[in-house]
Order: sequence, then C-alpha cells, then structure tokens
Amino acid sequence: AKAQGRGIYSFYTQALTRSARVRMEMEADLRRGLVREEFRLNFQPVVDLANGRIAGAEALVRWQSPVHGLVLPNRFIPLAEETGLIEPLGDWVLEEACQQMAKWTAAGADLDFIAVNLSPRQFQRGTLCERIEEVLRRTGLPAARLEVEITENVLFGAVAAERKLRDMRDSGVRIALDDFGTGYSSLAYLKRFPISKLKIDRSFVHDLPRAADAEIATAIISIARALGLDVVAEGIEAPEQCAFLKERGCGFGQGYLFGRPVTSERFLRLALQGPIA
Ligand code: C2E
Ligand code: CA
Ligand code: CA
Ligand code: CA
Repeated sequence: AKAQGRGIYSFYTQALTRSARVRMEMEADLRRGLVREEFRLNFQPVVDLANGRIAGAEALVRWQSPVHGLVLPNRFIPLAEETGLIEPLGDWVLEEACQQMAKWTAAGADLDFIAVNLSPRQFQRGTLCERIEEVLRRTGLPAARLEVEITENVLFGAVAAERKLRDMRDSGVRIALDDFGTGYSSLAYLKRFPISKLKIDRSFVHDLPRAADAEIATAIISIARALGLDVVAEGIEAPEQCAFLKERGCGFGQGYLFGRPVTSERFLRLALQGPIA
C-alpha cells in the first residue's frame, strides 16, 4: 500500500509538473511573441440593423505563433491576464486599433467607432485613462470614436470602477457592457455607471427566434431602450435571428451573417462598399 501511495503521489507531481511546465513555456512564448510582433488584429463589422450600414468595428486579437500556429484569444488571454502580459499586449491592441481606425477614416470610410476589449487587469490599472489619452493624442483619433468593451465582472467589486468610468466617459470615450446577461450582473450597474451600450451575449442569440432566448433578448432590448442605451446583438448567424432582433427594436448587430473578423485591409474595403444587409 505504501508503494502504491508513493506511485500515486509521483503520478500527481509529474502531472502537475508537466502542466506547470507547459504553462511556463506558453508564458515564455507569449513574452517572445510580443517582442517579435507576432500579434495582429482582426476587425469585425458592427452593423446598423435599420439600414445595413457598417457603423463600426470590434478589434479582436490573434496570435500567429511560430510554435503554436494561429492561436485564438480564448487560448492566451487568460494566461496573459494571470501573468500581467495583458498590460503590454493590451497597450499594443489599443494603439493598433486606434491607428487603424484613424487610417480608415483618412481613406474615406465613414465609421462611428472602433471597439476595443479591456480585460479586468487592464481596467484595474491605475494608469488606464492616461494610456488611453496618450494613444488618442498619438493617433489623432477623436475620443468619441473610441469605444471600450468591458464585462459586468469587471465592475463587480472593482475599487474605484465608478470613478474610472466617469473619467473615461468625461474624456469622450464610450463604454459598452460586453456579454451582457452572462456575468454577475445587476441592473443597478446600469443606473450607477456611465454606460452607453449593451452587447447581448451570443448565447442569447443562438436559438432565436425560439425558446427562452426570445424572451431574454426582448427584455434586454427593452431595458436598453428605456434607459436610452444603444444595444448590439452578438453572434448573429442566421437571417431569422436578425429579423427577430430588428423587429424587437435592437439597433445594431454583429456576427457571421454580416461578416467574420478580417484583416484591416479587408475591413476597409468592406467599409468603403457601403451597406451590407
Ligand atoms: P468577445 O469580446 O465576446 O468577442 C466576440 C467573439 O465572438 C469573437 O471571438 C468573435 O470572433 C466571435 N464571433 C463573432 N461573430 C460570431 C458568430 O456569428 N458566431 C460565433 N460563433 N462567434 C462569433 P474571438 O475573436 O475568438 O474572441 C474571443 C474573446 O477573446 C472575445 O470575446 C474577448 O473576450 C477576448 N478578446 C479578443 N480580443 C481581445 C483583446 O484585444 N483584448 C482582450 N482583453 N480580450 C480580447
Ligand atoms: Ca467584445
Ligand atoms: Ca461579447
Ligand atoms: Ca465573450
């Protein structure tokens, strides 16, 4: 029994060591990736459902790693967040996104906003507002053209969140609540924080127009409208989903039906073509 116990113990330590090693290697790869500029942004159109116009874009980061191939954010953002690498990575994303938006506008695209995702650690950073102002100054992008997307969980318990959001909003930057309805949500947040937009999580769009999704989506749209907030539905893939949302008064939509995330060049071409729906 003693020998067996030891066997199990060493099995666990080996497994633990292996996963710790994989993590450390991944962290080192991420760090190198930043230095070697292996990250890039894709952009997905956000469409005005009333007329099919592309109102703006959401920037979505990708990692083209020589070791791991093309890596999607769900596989590296959590680790970047834990290790603090999200700070330099997030700075890069913000600057690159604003730069692209400024270029598209100079090239004649008529877009209202570029949306950038902020993770909790980026949001908690004391210097966030200064960073944003610095990037806007350097890229020449008007503050009103930048939208930051945060999740409800960022607001939950965050010290000084209210103050930070007010500073951001006072500088002209717009704030969207991402994945709305999936987090530690509280409707009180909508009253308390200076939010301009709700993004209906794609898990509530998936089964539209059937089932409980129809009720939830309808409820979110009416809350948004009652409070004077813009509302975007994420993950629209089918015309029936789109028709339902539009009929219920949802202002904006995003999803494969309108376009997948694409390179900056392809996004510009799309934006110059005019309405898509
Ligand atoms: P998110 O902010 O909710 O972004 C939307 C995700 O849904 C994107 O996945 C997008 O490609 C995907 N999507 C868009 N339309 C459809 C559709 O019609 N159907 C389906 N099934 N999916 C759709 P992606 O690019 O893999 O990003 C995943 C998550 O990673 C994002 O979720 C966001 O939380 C995070 N993320 C992405 N880029 C950044 C970034 O630059 N910084 C931070 N902090 N997080 C990021
Ligand atoms: Ca988002
Ligand atoms: Ca989302
Ligand atoms: Ca999400």
